[in-house]
Amino acid sequence: MDSSDWDVIIVGTGAGGGTLALRLAQTGKRILLLERGEFLPREPENWLEEEVVTRGRYRARERWLDRDEQPFDPFTHFCVGGNTKLYGAALFRLRAHDFAATPTFDGLSPAWPLSYLDFEPYYARAEELYAVHGEAGCDPLEPPRSGPYPRPPLAHEPRIAALAERLAGVGLHPFPLPIGLRAPHEREAPLALGPFDGFPDPTESKADAHVVGVKGALRHANVQLRTGALVEELLTSPSGREVTGVRLRSTRGLEQLRADVVVLACGAIQSAALLLRSRPAAHPRGIGNAHDLVGRHYMAHNNGALIMYSTHENDARFQKSFAITDFYRRAPDSDHPLGSIQLMGKSDRATLRGLFSVALPGLSERELSAHTVDFWLTAEDLPRFDNRVELTPPGRIKLSYTRTNEEAYRRLRAALVAALERAEPESDQRFAGYELGIEGVSHQCGTLRFGRDPASSVLDPFCRVHALDNLYVCDGSFFCSSGAVNPSLTIMANALRVGDHLAERLA
Ligand SMILES: Cc1cc2nc3c(=O)[nH]c(=O)nc-3n(C[C@H](O)[C@H](O)[C@H](O)COP(=O)(O)OP(=O)(O)OC[C@H]3O[C@@H](n4cnc5c(N)ncnc54)[C@H](O)[C@@H]3O)c2cc1C
Repeated sequence: MDSSDWDVIIVGTGAGGGTLALRLAQTGKRILLLERGEFLPREPENWLEEEVVTRGRYRARERWLDRDEQPFDPFTHFCVGGNTKLYGAALFRLRAHDFAATPTFDGLSPAWPLSYLDFEPYYARAEELYAVHGEAGCDPLEPPRSGPYPRPPLAHEPRIAALAERLAGVGLHPFPLPIGLRAPHEREAPLALGPFDGFPDPTESKADAHVVGVKGALRHANVQLRTGALVEELLTSPSGREVTGVRLRSTRGLEQLRADVVVLACGAIQSAALLLRSRPAAHPRGIGNAHDLVGRHYMAHNNGALIMYSTHENDARFQKSFAITDFYRRAPDSDHPLGSIQLMGKSDRATLRGLFSVALPGLSERELSAHTVDFWLTAEDLPRFDNRVELTPPGRIKLSYTRTNEEAYRRLRAALVAALERAEPESDQRFAGYELGIEGVSHQCGTLRFGRDPASSVLDPFCRVHALDNLYVCDGSFFCSSGAVNPSLTIMANALRVGDHLAERLA
């Protein structure tokens, strides 16, 4: 056999790929990162609402199809660092019970092949790498931790501190939101917490997979990155038991690159699509798809925003500093889990205007912005067999998705509204909000679930495609259930776990 061009090719540079590259960089092996996007430019537009939110300046220019083959614009980003380049860096651990079978309003949320304790050391390492600020011991559903958070919690600004206190007064337990922010010496520019959720951070304070993972990995001479490199197909040996490399398209045209190990980290939808697109003779239904599981069990969370207008002024520059898990496992009126609540970045003025146009028609955008507090709500989404990624005959991504577990979201929202009404009865509150539709793929996961049994999972417990010896997946695809906290820390922790396994394999 000819020698390979690379020891490892990693496809994708987001939470999974960027973190894995950093872990494997220390092995001294020849590692190539392939990213279809480019570096996201650091430019004044990074923080302009109109450019980023209204015009979608950094969004992927790709249309996908829904179940009825109607086109939609996925809310996703192709760039070095992947979606973490625009994420909110809320870096939560899943809760211990999320790894076990859990009854929900919409049936049983399945168990994972590993337990929370298997992940705990990797969560600790991921928190260290991504500079997570937080405070142990005050999240009522906190899973066991081997140590404190690596960084102190962010202080609440006055309006947020007052609101947290009022919510505590009605029996909730707001706690500092765990958030990945780098310390001054790790950044190139001065700290400024400007627009954050959904915006790139030109100061590089936000700990994303580009500034932490990819930049860190590229300090090692054995690691290289190619941008603008779209991997279109995986290549295998004639038996189909080994992946031999990738076929990629770039400005240089079509190329084939060989590697001893290939790791997909394209995000849950695109990693599944790449496997389905790769159909060597030994895998006529797509690589790893002998049991028709590739692309199935897609999950994306029941995500939505609740915006509270009140007479209290909110002058916080960075309001995203507490979270609430009191309803994560159950609620006063429910034995089933509802979900998590966290503050989010301030909504842009055009969104506020639209949301409150009926309830508060006379208020200006400025007045609305000065009196609103924005909450992000997440309820679990369940892995349904027919919520899935497919390819249409010309190879376009088709995403069939029907929301699950909506009752949990509905009750979570109602529980928060009730708590806010009790907490600040004097403040003439009005509520508005929205829920994400099919285009809201930010929390995509589950399309290549991991497990011990090849008949019910695509990946083995080390995230190796069951049917092949040297093909791994290291992004949000491996989740068996989605839990109800943001997924990135779990993806990063898993990348470190898979990285340890690969480092041993390559030694
Ligand atoms: C606005 C926003 C806010 C968010 N906030 C949070 C938050 O606060 N906390 C949290 O935990 N999560 C958050 N998320 C979600 C988080 O960003 C994702 O869960 C995470 O980035 C997923 O990691 P991944 O490695 O699976 O994929 P991604 O980060 O999406 O990376 C996949 C990469 O693969 C590349 N790629 C895809 N296909 C190919 C191909 N064929 N060839 C080459 N390259 C390819 C893509 O361009 C991309 O760079 C947010 C997301 C968004 C969009």
